[in-house]
Amino acid sequence: MPAISASTKLTAVIGNPIRHSLSPLLHNSFYAKEGIDAVMLAFENASIESLVTAIRALSIELTAVTLPHKQSIIPLLDEVDDVAKSIGAVNTVVNRGGKLKGFNTDVVGFARSIQGVQLKNKNVLILGAGGAARMAAYHLRQEGANIFCHNNRTMEDARALSQDFAGTPVEAEELGRVEYDLIVNATPVGMTPNIANSPLAREYIRSGSVVFDVIYTPLETRLMKEALEQGARAISGLNMLVEQGLEQERLWLNREIRNRGYTEVLREKLSNNYTR
Ligand code: NAP
Repeated sequence: MPAISASTKLTAVIGNPIRHSLSPLLHNSFYAKEGIDAVMLAFENASIESLVTAIRALSIELTAVTLPHKQSIIPLLDEVDDVAKSIGAVNTVVNRGGKLKGFNTDVVGFARSIQGVQLKNKNVLILGAGGAARMAAYHLRQEGANIFCHNNRTMEDARALSQDFAGTPVEAEELGRVEYDLIVNATPVGMTPNIANSPLAREYIRSGSVVFDVIYTPLETRLMKEALEQGARAISGLNMLVEQGLEQERLWLNREIRNRGYTEVLREKLSNNYTR
């Protein structure tokens, strides 16, 4: 990366809290490897209005948006891409000449993470009914999957999600009625430090199926471990995290971007910082 100078571009990740964000590591590794004169810094603020004012005032050209601002930022932008609108969440803002446009690259990250997995007319169980579940449901619907929605604590939300994406709500006692080709965990259940938890009993995971866990701390969740033991394939949320970040750079720089070892950079950081 060139030395920081008056022409260095500032990019940002905004959220609250933001201290544990891996975005600065990912994006700054990318700038260093590609020789791009830019630096990403993290900004924490409970007020999305203040953060958007800062984006405009400092001419921040690329902003990664994380919790709790992915929905509340929408009315403050000049334009929102159609996919982000359908999902109802923006995780990326590109600033071109003072005009702020919102995108959702989580969905691209998710799609790339499960690339090669057959989806058309396949049975997919989505666990959870928040932002990540909506993003997954959007993509799975586009690809023609049969969507089944379950949320252990609040089934009402799973019913609403089903309705929005033409899925079928599944109560806890009905989970065994369908054989799932793909299971998507879109809840934080099993995340560090609660690594002994799993959002789904292993009996529902069939051999030959695929389990995608949106969680990336730990790198191998209990759900993933049990999926492997059941003869299924397990995919970590780390892939999604990296791919959604690279898609943010693609949108900003307007060119194709290859994943040149960035997953390993984050994997190493996570292996050193967290208990697996
Ligand atoms: P969210 O909007 O808060 O949704 C979480 C969903 O999980 C809610 O429907 C919640 O429903 C449900 N849930 C079920 N059991 C829960 C429990 N024990 N504790 C908390 N929630 C529970 O969050 P999100 O944005 O969808 O994110 C979900 C997970 O995905 C987080 O762990 C986040 O870190 C991860 N994520 C990863 C990536 C990536 O790049 N890999 C990207 C985005 C998000 P109730 O509260 O009604 O139970």
